[in-house]
Amino acid sequence: MYYYSTANKSHKANFKEATIAGQAPDKGLYFPVEIPRWNETFIKNIRQLSKAEIGYEILAPYVGESIQKYDLLKIIEDTLSFDIPLKQINDTIFCLELFHGPTLAFKDLGARFLSRCLGHFASSIGKKITVLVATSGDTGGAVADAFHSVVGTEVIILYPSGKVSPVQEKQLTTFGDNIYALEVKGDFDDCQRLVKEVFSDKEMNERLFLTSANSINISRWLSQQIYYALAMAQWKEQNPPVIAVPSGNLGNICAGLLANLSGLGSKHFIAACNRNDVFTRYLTTENYVPIPSQATISNAMDVGDPSNFIRILEMFNYEFKELKKHISSVSYDDISTQHTIATVYNQHHYLLDPHTAVAYQSLDAWIHAHPNDKGIILGTAHPVKFASVVEQITRSTVELPSQVASIMDKEKKSILVEPTIKSIKETIIQLADF
Ligand SMILES: *Cc1c(COP(=O)(O)O)cnc(C)c1O
Repeated sequence: MYYYSTANKSHKANFKEATIAGQAPDKGLYFPVEIPRWNETFIKNIRQLSKAEIGYEILAPYVGESIQKYDLLKIIEDTLSFDIPLKQINDTIFCLELFHGPTLAFKDLGARFLSRCLGHFASSIGKKITVLVATSGDTGGAVADAFHSVVGTEVIILYPSGKVSPVQEKQLTTFGDNIYALEVKGDFDDCQRLVKEVFSDKEMNERLFLTSANSINISRWLSQQIYYALAMAQWKEQNPPVIAVPSGNLGNICAGLLANLSGLGSKHFIAACNRNDVFTRYLTTENYVPIPSQATISNAMDVGDPSNFIRILEMFNYEFKELKKHISSVSYDDISTQHTIATVYNQHHYLLDPHTAVAYQSLDAWIHAHPNDKGIILGTAHPVKFASVVEQITRSTVELPSQVASIMDKEKKSILVEPTIKSIKETIIQLADF
């Protein structure tokens, strides 16, 4: 399989090249030249297959020659090392719980697949791959966990000192080994600026094999298709489900739409947004107008210019009418999201995190308008990650799952650095010499 750049269709890369590069050199996003169809037997027998077999069937055509069958199977098995159950909340709404991975968020799956692919490629090119990331909290933790102990890779994380939560800081700073945390005396914007400067620095690129673990990386995007198929394998209702996805950068829903073009067989998709409603407005006006992002209680969805929007256009050949047939979008404010968390907790004894709650509202509204439908919401984060929001509503404490509880006693190891490129470069060069 080859991938073209959305900025220039004649620029092509294979799976390995596109995964290592992340973004195309012309700043476009990689997109597959063709979308494979799942074969009939695969769909018919999906309930009898293991998670890894399902994952392999979906990803093998995308990976092509870049990774041999045995290695790819192992990578996928290792990626899917946690449960992904479909839980029934009420008569019509089910939740696909994607938050049982090591950092309790759906991003674990894509980050784990990417880390293992990069580790595999590092051994074939005979060089250590250095992943550089700036984080405001969550992404850094998922990336650190995913790359920890992956041979041939190291991760350098820049995070703003004093501006991440205690749990998040532990998730960034307690791994050691190949994970280095640089605690920057500045804010998240400083971290992002410094990462960009390192990426465009000639000396750093000569010394290190640098890459990012950005969410636009095809390995993260494509591997997310797997859990949509796992949802279908657990779907026992008669009619195909409507699927509601808590959306920010639109990467998650973009994977679902892709799976559906391959034969997933869902009825419809809803992009559930918080007040950052660029995509919702696009679907009503056909005008795409990016806005500065606004802070909400579902902060991983606070995105004013979703990077995967272009992939959705590509998928439907830029035909607005066709796109509207497959996907709707709604937007909710924090007050109605809090109300939803309380109602669902009181009526169904199910605790939603603020992101998943946005999707619940959208599906609930859909079902009111289409009483014969049933559907699935994607549970993108464990409620304990947003304890301060949910505990205020439920008036009871949420217990820390073992994955998180165990790191709270570990010792923080970080290197405090000034927010200047000089200081970052010196620190990274010292680390690289070890
Ligand atoms: C990242 C994230 C989202 C948004 O996912 P996109 O792929 O960016 O649309 C939703 N919920 C949670 C908890 C997240 O971390």
